[in-house]
Amino acid sequence: MLWIKNNFKYLIVIILLGATVLVWYAVFAESRSGLTVAFLDVGQGDAIFIQAENGNQILLDGGPNKAALNQLSKVMPFYDRSIDMVIASHPDSDHISGLIEVLKRYKVYSAMEPGTKSDNVVYQEFENLVKEKNIQDIFAGRDMRVNLDNGLYLDILLPVVDPENLDPHAGMLVIRLVYGKNSFLLTGDMEKSLEGYLVFLEGHNLKTDVLKVGHHGSRTSTSEVLLGFSAPEYAVISVGKDNQYGHPHKETLDILNKFQIPILRTDESGMIKIKSDGEQIFIY
Ligand SMILES: [Zn+2]
Repeated sequence: MLWIKNNFKYLIVIILLGATVLVWYAVFAESRSGLTVAFLDVGQGDAIFIQAENGNQILLDGGPNKAALNQLSKVMPFYDRSIDMVIASHPDSDHISGLIEVLKRYKVYSAMEPGTKSDNVVYQEFENLVKEKNIQDIFAGRDMRVNLDNGLYLDILLPVVDPENLDPHAGMLVIRLVYGKNSFLLTGDMEKSLEGYLVFLEGHNLKTDVLKVGHHGSRTSTSEVLLGFSAPEYAVISVGKDNQYGHPHKETLDILNKFQIPILRTDESGMIKIKSDGEQIFIY
């Protein structure tokens, strides 16, 4: 205690310095402008973090493991322990395993899912956690809109019908995120037949700035008709390095090149962060 007595002045200075650093950290970490969409680097899977200017946060899919936690710590300040909504595009483990880790460690207020069922243990755990933690469970379908901020909303494009008895890929939750003049088409693992159906439903409304390529660049997704109608400025492929499936397939890369769409890949670039001010998008 003698040290404290003799060095009291210095101790106060150190405490004040610490407080100043913390305040500036918070100012820096919380300085938000516009919309942020971060395609997290989670290996072979999908995890997309969405943050509005007003601070609303959504995590769409959580990837195949705990990698999402580390990635979230890069886009959220360390003291922010809540996420407003998690969304499961479908119940496959490369999309929801990481959501389970997030449900365990963050305060989550609502969980959205398409309503397809799965026997896999991961989905059972997801459902149990949602119940246990009294999280609002939302079964989403076409024509539903989630308002996030002024001029910022999510439109649910698919599924159209109650997909309870559908295969998870057929009952996929497909989302359009709109902010002013910008939009993102978030497709989960949507396959070609479903893409054709979506084009039939939406036609030229599908025009988008950023297409999250379906099913990690598998050849079973990304048809010419979808690219023709969505005409994206950028295509994002969420995929693990040297994955066992050979994703992204050469056919998918070829067709994106044929349409002259720049490709952004998480296995090559790590996290892909895109910002929008409602007029333009910016890639980081
Ligand atoms: Zn997948």
